[in-house]
Amino acid sequence: MQLTVLGAGPAYTDREGASGACYLVSHRTTTVLLDLGQGSFPRIFPLIRPEALDAIVVSHLHPDHFIDLVPLRHYLRYEFEPPRRVRVLGPTDLGARLDDLHAIPGFAAEALQLETLGEGSKRVGELLVEGRLVTHTDESYAVRVSPASGDGPGLVYSGDCGRAEDIAPLVRPGDTLLAEVSFGAGPVPRGVAHLDGPSVGGLATSTQAGRVLLTHLLMGRDAEAAVASCVAEYTGPVEMVWPGSLLDL
Ligand SMILES: [Zn+2]
Ligand SMILES: [Zn+2]
Repeated sequence: MQLTVLGAGPAYTDREGASGACYLVSHRTTTVLLDLGQGSFPRIFPLIRPEALDAIVVSHLHPDHFIDLVPLRHYLRYEFEPPRRVRVLGPTDLGARLDDLHAIPGFAAEALQLETLGEGSKRVGELLVEGRLVTHTDESYAVRVSPASGDGPGLVYSGDCGRAEDIAPLVRPGDTLLAEVSFGAGPVPRGVAHLDGPSVGGLATSTQAGRVLLTHLLMGRDAEAAVASCVAEYTGPVEMVWPGSLLDL
């Protein structure tokens, strides 16, 4: 599998060129997006025509993770006759939330083939997508993506998550862990449902992850300190990823 980071941003930031969460995973003939946050839609085009995506997986209904489904919907609706459709796996209320933005019932369904992600595995082409509910919003998922053939390690994406241990059941030894590290080196303020470097490092160690990729760093947080705080808890490779990062998994 290959991972291309299209957007690594949190909800807001002053980092020039930053856009909302969006990670493209490809394996043989199959291409899947994990999240489609603000500003990331145009970044799909250099890699693949959006209508050719096999699926988009939405971790939860915060705009930095799903709001660019709106330009995707318009693109599919207005650039093709008849409209094209793309499969979208996400929280139960995703369609209603998109419809509410335009106050048009059926707005999303015109171009998006919406399915509840749920827990457990779903087949998407040559990939398996496995969701697991995590602490963040009422319905937030971490996701494992792996070759459906069972060959090779998988990629576990945290989405946004307030308890690292919620993600642990998804991680198989050797997997790559792509984890939000909103609060950098930490600590995470009490009652806030996000992760920091030490919690991600601890998760990677306890699950025998093969590699850690950190993302979703809040404005003003130090990336080097975040990596160092994770390295203090985990002996494997750790790096911060940014838009344009391309990784072989
Ligand atoms: Zn977020
Ligand atoms: Zn969130």
